[in-house]
Amino acid sequence: MRKIDFEDIERQGIHTPFYFYDMRLLEKTLRQARNEADKYDFHLHYALKANVNTPLLKRIQELGFGADCVSGNEVQHALNHGFSASKIAFAGVGKTDNEIKQGLVNEIFSFNVESIPELMVINDLALQNNKIARIALRINPNVDANTHHYITTGIEESKFGINHWELDAIIEKLPVLKGINLVGLHFHIGSQITDFSAFKSLCIKVNKIQEFFSSHGIEFEHLNLGGGLGIDYHAPDQNEVSDFRTYFALFNQLIHRKEGQEIHFELGRSLVAQCGSLITKVLFIKEGAARSFAIVDAGMNDLMRPALYQAYHQIQSLTSKVSDVRKYDVVGPICESTDIFLKQIALPQLKRGDILAIRSTGAYGQSMRNNYNMRKDAQEWYQY
Ligand SMILES: *Cc1c(COP(=O)(O)O)cnc(C)c1O
Repeated sequence: MRKIDFEDIERQGIHTPFYFYDMRLLEKTLRQARNEADKYDFHLHYALKANVNTPLLKRIQELGFGADCVSGNEVQHALNHGFSASKIAFAGVGKTDNEIKQGLVNEIFSFNVESIPELMVINDLALQNNKIARIALRINPNVDANTHHYITTGIEESKFGINHWELDAIIEKLPVLKGINLVGLHFHIGSQITDFSAFKSLCIKVNKIQEFFSSHGIEFEHLNLGGGLGIDYHAPDQNEVSDFRTYFALFNQLIHRKEGQEIHFELGRSLVAQCGSLITKVLFIKEGAARSFAIVDAGMNDLMRPALYQAYHQIQSLTSKVSDVRKYDVVGPICESTDIFLKQIALPQLKRGDILAIRSTGAYGQSMRNNYNMRKDAQEWYQY
């Protein structure tokens, strides 16, 4: 990890726990993603829900990314940060009428529609507002992403997307839906996918589904293949940037792209996760019956992923240099037994006041924070 001048940061009024963002690494990551995607003229959207902080969003927008939003507030936030409405995709299984109207008024790139009832409502609201909604059907391709169950979205038991047995009904209804312009097909099978065979299976399904529509005379301006590319949580320094080259090359090779058809992706985690670390201070070392606890000043409200889906984040000490290595359970102050960042992790012997970095927390860290136990929001620091 890049060297951080902790004392200087504290002098600037930033105190632990705080999120540290390495803006150089962000830049490197964004540029690599862009360069690899540009080889095939692929369009990239950034999934805002991973991190909505202004300095990151500004840079992402400046580099030409579109936005992928999952709420009306995210759509507004993207607009406020200069993303053009013509580059904003809006997904989500539960869009409210107000959120739909907002998307219509702004004439966004696409509503990624997740059910037949939603399709009907968007059609009605578009007609009432004298608009035509650009929509992409989010299809559930029934592909197992081989990732944590809680972040799998593309299998039939999932709430996301339209199932294949509903497609006939949609094709039947389409001709009467005058408020709708069907422009794309959308897929997103899950997150933190490191097994590329899942993306291969996705491509095969996408081709089949596209053929099915073609056989009914329906063609699409674009295919949106979602996000989900994983990062290396176990070796963030060795693998700072995900393998965008292999990822985009795979889709380029396997997707049957129609003449003039645009291909879109919506990446979140792989763009912003590695540039962030949660910096926290050891409050107490507590000797338990069979283990030592390092009690730190960050809690599950600052970083929810370990408590929510047993996510692993590497932890390193930025201050202790003792060669004597001990095992600790690194835990937060919140009154919940699940407020644990890592169990039985080997660290140089810690003492009160030592500083730890919880790594790879740029994605789904700050954006998922909450104020449980009336805790304050963690501060943030951007290193350029
Ligand atoms: C969350 C989400 C993404 C981004 O997922 P990552 O795993 O962070 O790349 C893309 N598309 C949709 C529809 C999403 O909900």
